Amino acid sequence: MSKLFLFAAPSGAGKTTIVRHLLNHYEDLSFSISATTRPKRPHETDGKDYYFLAPDTFKTLVKNGGFVEWEEVYEGLFYGTLKREVERLWGEGKHIVFDIDVKGAVNIKQAYPNEAIAIFVKPPSMDALRNRLTARGTEDEANLKKRLDRAEEELSYESRFDIVLVNDNLQEALTAAEQIIEDAIKPA
Ligand code: 5GP
Repeated sequence: MSKLFLFAAPSGAGKTTIVRHLLNHYEDLSFSISATTRPKRPHETDGKDYYFLAPDTFKTLVKNGGFVEWEEVYEGLFYGTLKREVERLWGEGKHIVFDIDVKGAVNIKQAYPNEAIAIFVKPPSMDALRNRLTARGTEDEANLKKRLDRAEEELSYESRFDIVLVNDNLQEALTAAEQIIEDAIKPA
């Protein structure tokens, strides 16, 4: 049976690095490509990092029941998991890895309680988070503030997750993440 690994975290907690590592390490894992209305960043590819959609297209999909879940993650910016994406990966017999916000993870867990494992990637502190986001250099001042405000709220969701993975030392976090995958997919 395919598992759904839901990785959620405040922006800058190192979740994307962990998710990428796992996808490179295990060929039975596939990434659930989300849809978003956020503008594409220069290093990103449409159909690989996200399905970049116009706001009207996103709205139509919402209206037609095309999403398993969707959220306005930042003001005016929508993100969602397409039903057809989950079905596509399920059809390939893969375990699916999601890089998603905390509310989305809680919603997917509700939709697939038997298959989903919700993993909360936690930064060691808010200061560490601020430093990582600043070092990444992808956000301007206003966006940085938006992301930090949201991170504070997201940290309060921790108790609703199956597993908390503290990303203090990246190497240790990667090893712990591998263990989570192996425990979940090893033959009974
Ligand atoms: P970013 O703009 O940095 O790529 O992503 C911003 C946030 O949106 C991250 O926390 C990311 O995990 C979340 N996100 C990405 N895809 C989805 C999705 O399909 N649904 C939800 N609810 N959140 C998502």
